[in-house]
Parts: sequence; C-alpha cells; structure tokens
Amino acid sequence: MNARHVVKHPKPKNPVETLANTRHEFGEHGGVNMSIEASTTFTAMHPDILADMFHGDKGPDKGGCYLYGRHFNPTVYNLSRQLAALEGTEAAYCTASGMAAIAGTLFQLCGTGDHIVSANTIYGGTYALLQDFLPAKAGITTTLVDINNLAAVETAITPRTRVIYAESIANPTLRLADIPALADIAHRHGLKLVIDNTFSPLILSPKQLGADIVVHSMTKFIGGASDHIAGAICADKGFILQLMDLHTGALMLLGPTMDPQVAFNINLRIAHLPLRMAEHGRRAQLFAERLKDLGLAINYPGLSEHPDHERMSELHCPEYGYGGILTLDMGTEELANQLMDMLQNDYRFGYMAVSLGYFDTLMSCSGSTTSSEMTEEDKAAAHISPGLVRMSVGFTGTTEQRWRQLYSALERLGVVKAAAKPGAKGGQRRAS
Ligand SMILES: *Cc1c(COP(=O)(O)O)cnc(C)c1O
Repeated sequence: MNARHVVKHPKPKNPVETLANTRHEFGEHGGVNMSIEASTTFTAMHPDILADMFHGDKGPDKGGCYLYGRHFNPTVYNLSRQLAALEGTEAAYCTASGMAAIAGTLFQLCGTGDHIVSANTIYGGTYALLQDFLPAKAGITTTLVDINNLAAVETAITPRTRVIYAESIANPTLRLADIPALADIAHRHGLKLVIDNTFSPLILSPKQLGADIVVHSMTKFIGGASDHIAGAICADKGFILQLMDLHTGALMLLGPTMDPQVAFNINLRIAHLPLRMAEHGRRAQLFAERLKDLGLAINYPGLSEHPDHERMSELHCPEYGYGGILTLDMGTEELANQLMDMLQNDYRFGYMAVSLGYFDTLMSCSGSTTSSEMTEEDKAAAHISPGLVRMSVGFTGTTEQRWRQLYSALERLGVVKAAAKPGAKGGQRRAS
C-alpha cells in the first residue's frame, strides 16, 4: 500500500459494549424474550392517529404508533435496533434479504442518470445488479474499479456519481477495503460510502471507520445457521425514514419486508454472534497458518503475507480476529473439485455449498459458482482463478479433528510436500 494514502484512524471500539447497553425487550407477559408481533395491521386508539401517521407525525419512535406491517413492525424494529447497535449507527431496518438491503439502498440514493463507483470484487448478485439490472431497468450506471487503487476510485467519479460501494472484505479475494481512505474520498466529493459488511460483522465497524451506510446479508454469519434469508440497512435515522417513506421510500414501495417470525429467530442469534465470530476466526487463522506451513497457496487476511494484513490489524476489533473465510488455490478446477469431494464425502470435514457463516464448514469453487456472473476478464483482473476454493470455516467438531480431516485429503491428493507433517511447526499446535 502506498503510504501517502493512509488515512489515520483511531482504533474502533468493540461493538459488543453498545449492544449490551441497548434496551432489552421483554415479552408481553414478562418473558425474557421479546414477543412476536404477528399482526399486519394495527388499531389506532383515536381517529386522528391514523392521519398523523400518514403525515409522519406519529410512528414507532413518535408515540409508539404502528400502521401496517410493510411499514414498521415492532418485532422487526426491535431486531433493527440491535443491528443499529451492532454497527454503531443511529438506526437500522431489516429486509427480506441481503440483496433487498443493497438494492433498496442504491435505489434510494440514485435516480435515473446517476452513477456508482464500485469495487470490482463484489458478491455475484451485487455485480449483476450493478452491471446489468440497474442500467437496463433504471438507467443507473456503475464503473467497476480496483477498490484498493484509490487513485482509480477518485478518477472514476463523475458529476453524476452518488455512491462509492465496496465490501469490507471482498468476495472472494479477501482484500480489505480501506474504509477511512474511501470515506475521505467520498466525503470530499459529496458522495455516500456504502459498505457491505456481510463478511466481517463485529470484526470491522464501517460506520466507526467513516462509512455512511452499512448493509448486511444476515443470511450468513449473523443468522449463523443457514436457515433464513435476511438483510439489514444500518444508517442515520433520516435515511431509514426515507427508505420507509409512504410516498418515496424504496423499502416501503418495493416491499422486501422481513417477516416478524424471521426477525424473532435472528434476534436470538445476536447474543452469541461475538462467540461465534471469535471461534470462526480462531480456527480460520490456525488452518491458514498450517496450510501456509505446508507450502500451499493460501489467502487469509490474518497471515502477514496478505497485502492488507497490516492495515486490517490497525482497523479491526482484535477480539474477533481476521474473519472466518479463507481461500485455497488448488491450481485447477479439477483438483479443487477433487478436494471438496473428498472433504465432504470421505472425511466429513464440511459441505460443498455456496454461502458462508454456517456453523459447519462450507466450501465452494468461486470461479464457477458465486463469482460466475463475472466476465472472464473481470475474474482474471480480480485474481479469481479456476482452482480457487473458498472455505467458510465452521466450529463444529474439535479443531484437531477437523485439521486431520483436511490434512488427510490434501495428502491423498499429493499436494502436501513430503517433508511436511501436520502441525509440525509451532509445538503448541501439535495434534497430540
Ligand atoms: C450473500 C451475500 C449477499 C446477498 O445476500 P442474500 O441474503 O442472499 O440476499 C450480499 N453480499 C454478500 C457479501 C453476500 O455474501
């Protein structure tokens, strides 16, 4: 990294302290868990109240008034307050999916003719939204740039640019977006910096680092059990109210509403998110170090070789490490597929599946799956090789049991150098 670009930033605070200070919602009968408000419509105790709500003079934070389930729902709003605390934003709102959070945010910020500068290494769905859908359906165009090339980011800005968009940790390259530097550029040009923090909840706090809006797919780490599709938008109160405006709000009018039952279920996972993130990170770090010792082409931000290791060490919350995702380049798609097949079907190490943040390990070959929306040139430019296996490291089983499974498969494929032994380096890491 070019030193003159480094924007100094104070170390972010651990968001768990903010979370622990949020108001606890008790259930209707004093239950320790909040109740599920399953109603789609709400009675007004006085005829004036309905009119006041349509005028925005009454609402969830103005007299505790609710109107209709696609607008605000108390259970969804309670989860939203936890997300706001998690990201240190004034407010938040939950959506039916991560894509709904991203699309809703961009539709709210951009109109026809407007322009976005985005990282070229982003989730495949977001890539398709920016590259194909938004220009065709809404006349909103995007310039994709190497987000770590700050000069390229600044050069791509036009008079119609409204947004700089990036993922905190890019998929699947695991490059770190330099959020303080991007915020500096965005704010000098009067733009909003939108960060997708799906890969690094708690690990990175984009808002504390200068971002304006933080979006999440809660389908991944936050949900933690691969059982709900869900998303969130964390921002200042003004932006959340804009999204929910009865006449002009993207969430209100496009309608990707989260179901209160889903909100309730996800709410129960927030309390142990810190424990899970720490353990995902601890195991990913250990496996990354051992795979590196075996001479394999491993990429993980917790390794000193990673191009953004130093910057991440300055910006992350150390309690949660460097994240639960690593990539291993097997060279060819064939070898990558053999490895995943063995790991799933012979050793029970994990599952061949897209997605991430599950309690078990999930593995996929990025080039032919989650990044398959990208053109071959864009993939090449982003260093997404055909043999790249992305692993979302789970925390079931014991660490050493999982390591033995991984090592056995690699050894059988003949990719481990003969002299290397599992855990041979670092005595404290030996299996037995
Ligand atoms: C999965 C994912 C999304 C999309 O989220 P859904 O909940 O599947 O709509 C967006 N961004 C990233 C980084 C993701 O991993």
